[in-house]
Amino acid sequence: MEDRINDLISEEIHEECGVFGVYNMVGEDVADSIYYGLFALQHRGQESCGIAVSDTLGPKGRVSSMKGMGLVNEVFTPEGLETLRGDIGVGHVRYSTAGASNIANTQPLVLNYVKGTLALAHNGNIINAPELRRELEYTGAIFQTTIDSEVIAYHIARERLKTANVEGAVRNAMMKIKGSYSLIVMSPRKLIGARDPFGFRPLCIGKKENMYILASESCALDAVNATFIRDVLPGEIVTITKEGILSDTSMCQPKMAKCIFEYIYFARPDSKIDKISVYNSRIMAGRILAQEHPVEADLVVGVPDSGNAAAMGFAMETGIPYGMAFVKNSYVGRTFIKPKQAIRESSVRIKLNVLTEAVKGKRVVMIDDSMVRGTTCARIVGMLKAAGATEVHVRISSPPFLYPCYFGTDVPSDDQLIAHNNTVEQICKIIDADSLGYLSVNRLSELIDGDLGYCDACFSGHYPIEPPTEDIRGEYEL
Ligand code: SF4
Repeated sequence: MEDRINDLISEEIHEECGVFGVYNMVGEDVADSIYYGLFALQHRGQESCGIAVSDTLGPKGRVSSMKGMGLVNEVFTPEGLETLRGDIGVGHVRYSTAGASNIANTQPLVLNYVKGTLALAHNGNIINAPELRRELEYTGAIFQTTIDSEVIAYHIARERLKTANVEGAVRNAMMKIKGSYSLIVMSPRKLIGARDPFGFRPLCIGKKENMYILASESCALDAVNATFIRDVLPGEIVTITKEGILSDTSMCQPKMAKCIFEYIYFARPDSKIDKISVYNSRIMAGRILAQEHPVEADLVVGVPDSGNAAAMGFAMETGIPYGMAFVKNSYVGRTFIKPKQAIRESSVRIKLNVLTEAVKGKRVVMIDDSMVRGTTCARIVGMLKAAGATEVHVRISSPPFLYPCYFGTDVPSDDQLIAHNNTVEQICKIIDADSLGYLSVNRLSELIDGDLGYCDACFSGHYPIEPPTEDIRGEYEL
């Protein structure tokens, strides 16, 4: 697996993927719209991306696709997009949490089978993928990739042979797969969106003139000037055809487990997920932090980007001025040259620098969205102090990470989590902060208007589904 420069110079938690699909009702090409939609979802995955399109009026099964390693604007050129002709299509951005980071594992997956062609884009993790994959292999299946998404695609293709339509096949596949998934499936004449019955990952529907759109986040609808229609319900299958949208809610069930960390960190603040504004959630997290861990200080600052809104909430609640203390370089991409050992120690500075004038002589409250190993936080505290901050009080707008995530993110195993092996006091000493406070687990529901249907397993250890007993993170490396 390639070195990840962003991992080297920070300890960010990554979302696995973003998905975007379009059906144009009057036969116009959709590749450009998908490109802009994926661009708005780039924060959900920066390793690879792809688009597959098909012509609903053309010969069944003819799919054009383009995929590559890198960012959306690195993989697609105007000339490349020109070759993608079709009025129905699906796109994907990926960060690998299951399966290696290589070209074979990029999505959308395109599968040819007896009923035509199927293209699939998936966000999430299938926790029973290894056993389903073994079952399929024992019946002769040959896999092209090492990702769990191919297991879903295979199941849909097989079920399609027994069902009257492709949405029935998606439903039958959903009865077998366990875990988190927001899916967009393109068949020759239909675009299908499906969300797992727990609703771990988001998926929403939008419309613009003659186009219906499915997207991981509403910010991607805004990017193409589409109107948000509604969220896909957890467990729902929506089928978009020339006649409009059909909904199947037979897989919906009362127990939901929407990922609370989408609101705290993964999603863009200009998105709404399940009717809740991500920005408002972060403001609320900052307000709660201020109530739970007040402190006398001169300035509140957020570690960009996801710490900013929480810092504003903290400032609103306390009356301490909110300010900017960091300048972030957002252009650290996949091809960035890895720093040599000699400068690795100061490598956080490549991505983040401190505004000395803003913090010198001040008691600073520094808000970050989470802490994984603590090394990045310690470096940022050190940078603030070196710039002349007299005190640095760290507030984290999530509870301590104590357990791994199996549902589509790379929250790592317990032994790599600083909070798993240390008390808050010990962590405070390790990062050399003057005080440290985390959001408490029992107030998380306030971030989403008191809704109790959320997952907080990486903080509480209460997994909504039994965690897998075997490694699901790409043991089938090619
Ligand atoms: S374990 Fe944590 S990161 Fe994973 S789905 Fe649950 S809340 Fe989200």
